[in-house]
Amino acid sequence: MKNILILHTGGTISMEEDNTTGAVKVSGKHPLDNTLPSVSSLANITNEELFKLPSPHMTPANMLMLAKHIEKKVTQEQVEGVVITHGTDTLEETAYLLDLCLKVDIPVVVTGAMRSSNEIGSDGPYNLISSVKVAACDTAKNKGVLVVLNDEIHTAKNVTKTHTSNVATFQSPQYGPIGLVTKRGINFHHMPINRDRYPVSHLSKNVILLKAYAGMDATTLNMLSSLAVDGVVIEALGQGNMPPATLPAIENLLKNNVPVVLVSRCFNGIVQDIYGYEGGGRPLKKMGVIFSNGLNGQKARLKLMVTLELTTDHHELQEMFLK
Ligand code: ASP
Repeated sequence: MKNILILHTGGTISMEEDNTTGAVKVSGKHPLDNTLPSVSSLANITNEELFKLPSPHMTPANMLMLAKHIEKKVTQEQVEGVVITHGTDTLEETAYLLDLCLKVDIPVVVTGAMRSSNEIGSDGPYNLISSVKVAACDTAKNKGVLVVLNDEIHTAKNVTKTHTSNVATFQSPQYGPIGLVTKRGINFHHMPINRDRYPVSHLSKNVILLKAYAGMDATTLNMLSSLAVDGVVIEALGQGNMPPATLPAIENLLKNNVPVVLVSRCFNGIVQDIYGYEGGGRPLKKMGVIFSNGLNGQKARLKLMVTLELTTDHHELQEMFLK
């Protein structure tokens, strides 16, 4: 049997509902301890509670700490696969940061639950069992960090939370899952063709995420110039266009060597320099705005935080954002 390390970080999967008030909160004993006998028949399990955080409390610093902890465990002990349990709100961000920074090649799977441990139809135990099966599977190697919930296997790069409460919330818009968990085993049907890796040891950059909207003006972007901001990601309109009133502020940020990365507020497709009108993608690109490759805003922000640790050259950053 494989040696699998389970790391708990908190979230609904580790909580229970108070029967009188209805509030979902952290419980004393970890509720997944009751599932350990079931997973012990699948692998040799080591179980650790690293954090007890609702995932809105998770920070990039915590995520990097998690990455370092995994690397230490893999070097010091014979860990062959890792499962991380996590709150679903920022699960995709932790999974993607690990995908960018982790220097290990064993399967790393992130999972969570939409229903707490004592709710009817609680999905935590099932998702944990599925994730251990994936982490213990040889074909899960070399596919980057994986996210497993609701019988689906997604890449950290493409997956996003799409529903506030449905158990089928995790989807990979445009690409779909890369594999399925079935009663008979693990079935991968797609293989990611490239993996973006930037081993950084700390994250010190302040990167802001903004969303564009009809009638947006320069007020918020102008305010950024007076703050200690190292980079800005904007969820732009459509294929990568901005309202014209924002342009002087974008130009100003670029003049001050603050990189501006565009993603789209559409959750399918990629941004490109197509439109030539004022605020269109072509003039923005000419101005020096960096175009991303289909990442959503929250992941592009993490990627800019990571890549800014390696370079502040906007051309090099643009190359990295094409991957
Ligand atoms: N708000 C919770 C969290 O992210 C949701 C969940 O875990 O599903 O911690």
